[in-house]
Amino acid sequence: MNPTFERMPVSIFEQMSQAAVRHGAVNLGQGFPDFGWPEELLAEAARLVTSGSNQYAPSRGAPALREAICHFYAERQGLDLTPDQLVVTSGAIEAIASLFFATLNPGDEAVIVAPAYDGYAPLLRRAGAVIREVALRPPTWALTAEALEAAITPRTKLLVINNPHNPTGRLFSNAELEAVVTLARAHDLLILSDEVWEEVIPPGATFRSLMAMAPERTIKIGSAGKIFALTGWRVGWLAAPVELAALAAKAHQYLTFAAPPNLQGAVAFGLSRPELIAPMRGAFERAKARLSDGLARAGYVLLPSEATYFQCVDLHASGIALDDMAFALAAVEQAGVATIPLSPFYEGEAERGLVRLCFAKKDETIDAGVAAMARAK
Ligand code: GLN
Repeated sequence: MNPTFERMPVSIFEQMSQAAVRHGAVNLGQGFPDFGWPEELLAEAARLVTSGSNQYAPSRGAPALREAICHFYAERQGLDLTPDQLVVTSGAIEAIASLFFATLNPGDEAVIVAPAYDGYAPLLRRAGAVIREVALRPPTWALTAEALEAAITPRTKLLVINNPHNPTGRLFSNAELEAVVTLARAHDLLILSDEVWEEVIPPGATFRSLMAMAPERTIKIGSAGKIFALTGWRVGWLAAPVELAALAAKAHQYLTFAAPPNLQGAVAFGLSRPELIAPMRGAFERAKARLSDGLARAGYVLLPSEATYFQCVDLHASGIALDDMAFALAAVEQAGVATIPLSPFYEGEAERGLVRLCFAKKDETIDAGVAAMARAK
């Protein structure tokens, strides 16, 4: 058996979602909206299913979708992409896996920024890579050039950056992003920029892509599930320099071969209507205010959240002595609310006093979640 997977726990997202079902708890854990998606996309997907778009798409993605992604990023982020730089995958995690498998050799080193999305480390390990972790700390979660540089060695091949950052909700500053680019150029590194939260930002906020700053070495990861609040659709992609995209496409063809053609068509339809996105931002911003007001009234201390639909709670500052895992288990089993503890997102010295809550929820879900959080205190 393979030790990477033998030693690996079930993903904390799956663990907490299963516990929520088992205990009939409100699920503010795993990040998925229970409202807010554009209905137009559902109608278009249904139309495509019933009108016969149900056989394999081209492995690298439906041409209409790859064109639509290029236009979308040209308009919104000033990127200059061509369809041969794109690979459409079954969810963003498959794009990440394809890139790791296609580019890394045993002994290559990859730098990840903790708290890091829990998919990176196991996939890097399975690709044979050695992981170097840069640990961010609350409340600022600042990413410094010094910390990044200290993690880089002559064997480093790849920096894995996630911006906006899950689970902290940080939107990295220009200075932080420029430090990433400067170091990547100085040490000739690839940058995997996981930008799946690029559109989940408050009204008025701006997102800057590392692909615009260092197109020669950046692999950008995107996700229709995040852009349109349809996480179960599993339509993601990567954009990369042409040769790297071709290499990742070879890994992708033997992982899932192709994403569903009807959903790809509906996503292309959505990307060509970016006006669908602004109302989602407004709705999630109102949901965020409802959750944070409710939690504050219940006596919880919150960390700042600049982007994503996540809000972190500081348990210890809120007068709770339990560590994050013990709190999360008690909250789901006894109080009836699922949250996500942050300690599983560290390889090394973990933060043990923080949990993450998802606020992309209807008023009634938030109110029920807040009432349960009040009981958990
Ligand atoms: N991205 C989601 C989150 O952060 C989880 C995705 C998953 O469970 N595969 O909650």
